[in-house]
Amino acid sequence: MSNAILAVNSGSSSLKFALFAATRQSGEWSNEPLVSGKINGIGRKPMLSEKVNGKPVEISGPLKNIPLEARHGSLIALILERLNSHYSKFNLVAAGHRMVHGGSEFASPVQIDAEVRKKLENLIPLAPLHQPHNLAAIDAITASMPDLPQIACFDTGFHRDMPRLAQLFALPRKLSDDGVIRYGFHGLSYEYIASVMGETLGTVADGKVIVAHLGNGASMCAMLNRHCLSTSMGFTALDGLMMGRRSGSLDAGVVLHLIQQKGLTPDEVWHMLYRESGLLGVSGISNNMKILEESTNPHAREAIDLFCYRAMREIGAMTAILGGLDALVFTAGIGQNSARIRQQICSQLGWLGLQVDADANDRNLSVINAAISEVKICVIPTNEEAMIAAATCDLIAVRK
Ligand code: AMP
Repeated sequence: MSNAILAVNSGSSSLKFALFAATRQSGEWSNEPLVSGKINGIGRKPMLSEKVNGKPVEISGPLKNIPLEARHGSLIALILERLNSHYSKFNLVAAGHRMVHGGSEFASPVQIDAEVRKKLENLIPLAPLHQPHNLAAIDAITASMPDLPQIACFDTGFHRDMPRLAQLFALPRKLSDDGVIRYGFHGLSYEYIASVMGETLGTVADGKVIVAHLGNGASMCAMLNRHCLSTSMGFTALDGLMMGRRSGSLDAGVVLHLIQQKGLTPDEVWHMLYRESGLLGVSGISNNMKILEESTNPHAREAIDLFCYRAMREIGAMTAILGGLDALVFTAGIGQNSARIRQQICSQLGWLGLQVDADANDRNLSVINAAISEVKICVIPTNEEAMIAAATCDLIAVRK
């Protein structure tokens, strides 16, 4: 029986899991999972898709027809049962979790005990869309397998050594001293891209690179020598780019206006900024980019244009911070799949030396810049689960 690590990535309405061999072959970690799965549509129409050694498998048992009321905790319990019955040749030795916020205390992966769990729970107000689901997954595994080591891996970790100016808000010093600073998110995705981008970019990977993680949540990271110099998300994952349902950066005066003049409660403002804004709010149609691309409604078009405009503006700002640009990397659902969005963002950056090769872009190739482009443009699929499992493997030192 071979030792395996379960990586768990629980998002607001999805739950990804992946089982990796708990070993490094000659020191090299394999980013290919043995088994991987994703439950989409939690709370609406949950559905599991699963792959074994990269090939889709038929779903049977209780996860074939998931009840509508199932949430992250109960789903994790079902996933553990399924792994035990279908993949019993693997001996689970640890579980690693994506933990969205580590606050000022946690940057590196940490083993979860009662004290750490309590501290992570205290950070819920800073990541209300994700942290409760991350904790529910931990609790469900504790309930089924109390002795299994569980490791929290932080989305904020990659950005913790950002220069101080990139972390500060122009607020009274007391607030910064209290931890009201820019933390940045999607760190596991950036860490993964930083670890593999040399395969696509060669030595350019060690230069001035902007990684655009464009999914339902969207952010960018400016990297120099694969370290973060600046990132677009802030104290919370509400800042920065326009997202599926989140507004991204906003004049704080709008929040005051909504409360003081429009009489909205803080909870109503929360709901508006986290759930009703972004692509959904501007289009009035959907938070789903694919649906908007297929729509002929002018409001869908305007939402897409604003999404691309904001991305283009962020790339300009990050290029200034980097003092130039060697490569732009697209990743996550929109970044990996939407040739139209990549084209539209880059088409506004010709002055910076970016030229897309339309054919390579349409075919979703990994290098999509034209030969004459002064900046390399790439598409690299992210793999947060591999990063979680590798960190978990190292922390518990379960190498064969
Ligand atoms: P993620 O949060 O990384 O899973 O990304 C989800 C987003 O990717 C949604 O807005 C999807 O509509 C978008 N997406 C996935 N595939 C495509 C595609 N082929 N074209 C356009 N958008 C896509």
